[in-house]
Amino acid sequence: MHELSVATAIMESIERKLGGRRELAKIQLTLGPLSCINPDALRFCLRTMAESEGFGEPELDVREVEARIVCRECGREYSATEFYIPCPHCGSIAKEILSGRECNIDFVELIGDQ
Ligand SMILES: [Zn+2]
Repeated sequence: MHELSVATAIMESIERKLGGRRELAKIQLTLGPLSCINPDALRFCLRTMAESEGFGEPELDVREVEARIVCRECGREYSATEFYIPCPHCGSIAKEILSGRECNIDFVELIGDQ
């Protein structure tokens, strides 16, 4: 499962930032629709890993953002939830991706942090 390796990378990154394994209250992530990551599968993997790896049972807040795309044909910008959506203005599928591949850790909260 692809999401498992993503979850592993996320937990490793958090562990590096914290300098060790700490119990977490919350993890907030931003996920773009072009990241090819299923949010539910990612939540499941993160929850399982956090519990088994000593990070506690953090709340998982996965913000799903829209992709921003600019049409190569008419030059207008539009948002999309998947890659294969054609331009709503001219129907062209020639496009440039501005954003939508995000898989970012926005922040984590530790237990006892306020
Ligand atoms: Zn267009």
